[in-house]
Amino acid sequence: ATEEGFDPEQVADELADAAHGPLPVLAVVGRPNVGKSTLVNRIIGRREAVVEDKPGVTRDRVTYEANWNGRRFKIVDTGGWEQDVLGIDASVAAQAEFAIEAADAVVFVVDSTVGATDTDEAVVRLLRRAKKPVVLAANKVDGPSAEADAATLWSLGLGEPHPVSSLHGRGTGDLLDAIIEALPEAPKLTFGEVLGGPRRIALIGRPNVGKSSMLNKVAGEDRVVVNEQAGTTRDPVDELIQLGGKTWKFVDTAGIRRRVHLQEGADYYASLRTAAALEKAEVAVILIDASDSISVQDLRIISMAVDAGRACVIAYNKWDKVDEERRYYLEREIEQDLVQVQWAPRVNVSAGTGRHMEKLVPAIETALAGWETRVSTGRLNAFLGELVAAHPHPVRGGKQPRILFGTQAGVRPPRFVLFASGFLEAGYRRFIERRLREEFGFAGTPIQVSVRVRE
Ligand code: GDP
Ligand code: GDP
Repeated sequence: ATEEGFDPEQVADELADAAHGPLPVLAVVGRPNVGKSTLVNRIIGRREAVVEDKPGVTRDRVTYEANWNGRRFKIVDTGGWEQDVLGIDASVAAQAEFAIEAADAVVFVVDSTVGATDTDEAVVRLLRRAKKPVVLAANKVDGPSAEADAATLWSLGLGEPHPVSSLHGRGTGDLLDAIIEALPEAPKLTFGEVLGGPRRIALIGRPNVGKSSMLNKVAGEDRVVVNEQAGTTRDPVDELIQLGGKTWKFVDTAGIRRRVHLQEGADYYASLRTAAALEKAEVAVILIDASDSISVQDLRIISMAVDAGRACVIAYNKWDKVDEERRYYLEREIEQDLVQVQWAPRVNVSAGTGRHMEKLVPAIETALAGWETRVSTGRLNAFLGELVAAHPHPVRGGKQPRILFGTQAGVRPPRFVLFASGFLEAGYRRFIERRLREEFGFAGTPIQVSVRVRE
């Protein structure tokens, strides 16, 4: 089994992740320019800062994995989030609200050289309401003389301000100790429990596509548990639902049931909710209103699911409203607009009437199977060897880059690393990805192919 670089620790981590869900999540919130991104970079170290050569991934990542003294957690950096949709104050509050909702604990960053502002006070009110553990970081305390500035932040009523300099690293060890203290420890499960854990599904889609109708339909009388297990600090927003003889966890359902009524910025709220749900889920059921033209917003939601690396199922809802003519145009739209998710299983359903809803579970299972597919290094290289012999990279400037070797670096979703003797053009990489799919399936899953150039 060592052939594919089997790493028992990594497998244990992956199984644990699959069972309980993602690692505990830490959100970093605060006004623009207080140093959130600097702090996140400081916490995750340089390891994550390496820019990977990943075709198709254009979005800035906002979630990273971090590790302090062996305790792993995820960290959400809201620093790069859109700032001006609702005006600065409202958007800081909105970002904080959604980040807090998805988090197990929060680091609230304040610029101690400025002191507490009205916007900071507004975030404090949100934090109080959310009842999540909060660690207050008094940032930009670059030297001992600035400690007094930090002390004034006791006035926020969030407990001890932790003086740090994210820029220079001063005080970050103590801050991390406080963070670890605030995060819930992932419960240790036995192997049997790990394998039997419910899979996590996010229902996503633009407003009015039928998410809450679908949730109500699948929940029906069979909803078994509304609350999360006792002892966790998560909101009771995940519902365990029985479908097709199995229990599934539908994540973030409070966000579906609670309708956010907002004139301006409603899209913005919706996309934050989608991001939060995707963060927790393994598989995304992406609802599209089949009776209406596919919109830019639908495409954006699809991209979010793909970029998040989740298994994907496309559910064309309101199929009862699709007539011959609409069907003709729909097929055209699918061909033109949904090329990026051609691999996703598609189901045509009516959440309203319940028609064909039984097709959902097999599609979800297909997508999850693709998402977890592992190809051995031996098989992969046999395939790559033949492929490269039959279809070599075009010669460029007298040189011909060659793929030397490949390995699957991970699953959920499948990630491949190709070692090459020179830069591989985007078109060639897409070709490789297409052929990988033809050969190994990967129905319902994005795959990532990165290339390392080896001289
Ligand atoms: P964000 O908008 O909250 O993510 O803030 P950034 O991380 O982008 O930081 C905003 C500015 O503050 C940048 O110029 C940083 O270099 C600076 N900064 C961040 N942390 C510190 C710090 O601890 N000390 C000082 N002096 N400057 C900092
Ligand atoms: P959400 O905003 O995505 O949660 O969408 P809702 O579940 O609230 O549905 C929006 C509207 O579409 C409601 O009026 C539903 O009754 C209607 N709807 C949902 N599913 C279907 C369906 O399968 N067929 C039809 N004809 N209408 C539906």
